[in-house]
Parts: sequence; C-alpha cells; structure tokens
Amino acid sequence: MDVLIVEDEPSYLDALKITLEPEGFSVRTAPDGRTGIAAFESSLPDVILLDLMLPDISGLDVLRSVRTKSDVPVVVVSAKSTEADIVSALELGADDYLTKPYSSRELIARIRANTRRLSAQDDKTLVVGRTVLDPSRYEIRIGEVVFSLPRKEFELAQMLMERHGRVVTRETLLEQIWGIDWGDSKSLDQHIRRLRRRFEKVDGAPRITTLRGVGYRLES
Ligand code: CA
Repeated sequence: MDVLIVEDEPSYLDALKITLEPEGFSVRTAPDGRTGIAAFESSLPDVILLDLMLPDISGLDVLRSVRTKSDVPVVVVSAKSTEADIVSALELGADDYLTKPYSSRELIARIRANTRRLSAQDDKTLVVGRTVLDPSRYEIRIGEVVFSLPRKEFELAQMLMERHGRVVTRETLLEQIWGIDWGDSKSLDQHIRRLRRRFEKVDGAPRITTLRGVGYRLES
C-alpha cells in the first residue's frame, strides 16, 4: 500500500516512516504543499496523510486540489485541533482527522479503516423508496438527482439504507466505518450533517432522524 505523506516537520516525517514501513506500507514524502500535489499527480497513492500547516500553501489548499481529481482517502494529521479546523477539513472532503500528538497504533488503525475496500457482500445495489444506492459507482440517485459521494459518506448512507426504519447506533457506525470505537466522534457528526444536507435539497429523499445519545434512523 502506497502512502503519500505531506508534512514539513522532519521529526514527524521520520517518525511516520519508522512507524509505517515495518507495517508493509510503501512511503513517499513531500515537504510542502506543491511538492505534495505534484507527487499525487505523478502517481496516485492509496492514502494521503496531510499536515495542514505547510510552508508554501496550506494543507486545505492541497486537499481542495486533490479533491478536484480524486476521491483517494485523505487523513489529515495536524496540531490544529479546534472544532472549526476539523470541520473545515471534513467539509472539504477529508475522510478523517487525527490531532498531533497521536499514537502510532491509532494512526495505523485509521489508515487501515480508511483504505478498506468494500467487501463483496457490500457490493449490492440498495433501494429505499425512490432512493437507489449503487456501490459500483459510489453513487446515490434520488429520481433525477445523482450524488457522487466521498467514501465515508457513502458507507454511512449504505449502513443507514441497509437498516432503514431501524435505529443504527453511533457505536455500530463508528466501528463499522471508522474501524474502532473512537472516543472522539466528531467525524461521524460531520458526515451525518453533510449527508443530511444533501438529502434535504431533494424532494422525496429519505430523512435521517437523530435519537440523541443513541444513534440515527433513515426514514423514507
Ligand atoms: Ca507543519
């Protein structure tokens, strides 16, 4: 698995290489944003680890540029840890956000969760009312409207549609989609918000209701 790390701090770069290479990852590094974009364009990695505070352009600019071309998983790894920082990165299409300092185990688990391929049984088309989810294209169609969704948002829609009309707990969603029972579940909240916002714009779309402290339910 090819990991592209965009990070300007040499001590972090070295630590990441030492952590990832023994786990079988092949690591490419870029010390600034423009080099990172060039490396991404010359050969598509399986996952990008992206720092936000870079010497030339910001990590968010790198993310924006990557997202015009690809839905490759992007895990932001940053010292910036306010809710606003996390929200902007997720809104621009980051799949996950890890704040520095982080544990190596958690980093590896998150990379694995974000690069997990859909298994064969996850590959079937789902229909709820007028809404059709097509795993072969990461797409949801509602009547004439087509959404092409980032991976995590797609998986979230898929789990809610599979169990529509029933409550899916936050723990289940975090475990199945993010891979571990995270203490921090801001990513889940953000992804739910994004999905809900897409649905709200379309007539006849399903609704996602919140059961506070428990989970979510998709209703057609
Ligand atoms: Ca930095």
